[in-house]
Amino acid sequence: MQPYELTMVQAMEKLDAGELSSVELTQSCLKRIGEVEKDLKSFVTIDADSAIRQAENADKMRRGGADGSLLGIPLGIKDLLCTKGIRTTCGSKILENFVPPYDAAVVENIKNAGGVILGKLTMDEFAMGSTSETCKFGVPQNPWKEGYVAGGSSGGSASSVASGECLGSLGSDTGGSIRQPASLCGIVGLKPTYGRVSRYGLVAFASSLDQVGPLSRDVADSALMMNVISGHDKRDSTSMKMETPDFSKSLVEGVKGLRVGVPEEYFGEGLDPEVRRIVENGIKILKDGGAEIVNLSLPHTDYCVAVYYLIAPAEASSNLARYDGVAYGLRDQKAESLLEMYKETRSAGFGAEVKRRILIGTYALSSGYYDAYYKKASQVRTLILNDFNRAFESCDVIISPVTPTPAWKIGENVDDPLSMYLSDILTLSANLAGIPGMSVPGGFSDKGLPVGIQLQGAHFREDVLLKTAYNIEKALGMGSQIASR
Ligand code: GLN
Repeated sequence: MQPYELTMVQAMEKLDAGELSSVELTQSCLKRIGEVEKDLKSFVTIDADSAIRQAENADKMRRGGADGSLLGIPLGIKDLLCTKGIRTTCGSKILENFVPPYDAAVVENIKNAGGVILGKLTMDEFAMGSTSETCKFGVPQNPWKEGYVAGGSSGGSASSVASGECLGSLGSDTGGSIRQPASLCGIVGLKPTYGRVSRYGLVAFASSLDQVGPLSRDVADSALMMNVISGHDKRDSTSMKMETPDFSKSLVEGVKGLRVGVPEEYFGEGLDPEVRRIVENGIKILKDGGAEIVNLSLPHTDYCVAVYYLIAPAEASSNLARYDGVAYGLRDQKAESLLEMYKETRSAGFGAEVKRRILIGTYALSSGYYDAYYKKASQVRTLILNDFNRAFESCDVIISPVTPTPAWKIGENVDDPLSMYLSDILTLSANLAGIPGMSVPGGFSDKGLPVGIQLQGAHFREDVLLKTAYNIEKALGMGSQIASR
């Protein structure tokens, strides 16, 4: 077994026991990157020298008695989290050369816990997409099957972890971008409750929906990373003032008495039969373990795509107004007036999908249309939240598929935005409602593509998700698997 194949928890044990050094572990990941990165394209930026220096420092600290909970563990960071001194592109030409002067809160947390940052991971431009194909610096591939998408928008965050290029990563999830790529790449992804993790230094897409969360090879690693990144931050006004529990304590065996909700709307038309088989097997595992299965309805599920694709672009159009060539990134050099400079910079710097979203959002927010679109969407958003609140009176966790199908071929959907949007149908509502959601590996399709199982919980009940996921993982004997190519 190579060091890069270890989970974070396993690696920490070896590091603490002195059987492995962080330098050896980091070199093992860098070697793995050398082997697979040419095909996988998980990274926008790799800083090997800095990673080795961080690892040397971690080894020194450990010898001095320090005990950070990620001390010496090599990780990757989605390229929309600000990293001091390392360029942060958001997958966009407009930020191609943007080097932030500060670290995002979660990056600070990772550094304070002793994590070694290997580099920045590929993603859809400004996190808008479901396949990472709109990234301007390379399209990540699914490590399980050549020519297939890794998912998105945190595609690089998933392919890097699934292939062993790093032991874990951070992604962001505005409408499914942690859970969906985790599902398509056969790893664990957790979107925390809105407000659990600071958004300070996360480049904003849709501020009322965005959350940062971990991608990892097993559930124990997910809990470990949640312990590090969660907690109040006064620099984010939506960050909750509350204690962070020890999430690792949630990993207890046994689901006796757990009430597991099965929403009928998530198992409807268009669901791939293999995805259905795998999720139904997950339900059976929990039932056999003594859980109570509760059939329920989330009646406004049908509206979530329409609501999301009004609210997210509306917020994006406002957030992305700041890229005007003045304060950040690209600036057109030939323009002869300020207005022309704005226009030329934004025309050249943004890709087609980003422009589409800005147009939709600006339209939906314009006077005369605001009430008809944004206000109406916000009202329906409340109905979606009410559905969940009602559901969590009769169950503790909701189980469902993450995506209607396993991964598809690169290029297959890229020119069809509507069918791309529809692939998010099962993940969007957790963001609209602000509740936590998770994807845990459930099995493989006949073609050998991984399929995840989605778990959703009540606000701030990540502990229930972790416990449920842990039991599914144990029963299936999955977790810590690495795509072998
Ligand atoms: N696929 C969704 C979108 O394109 C969600 C993206 C995300 O979660 N960042 O908006």
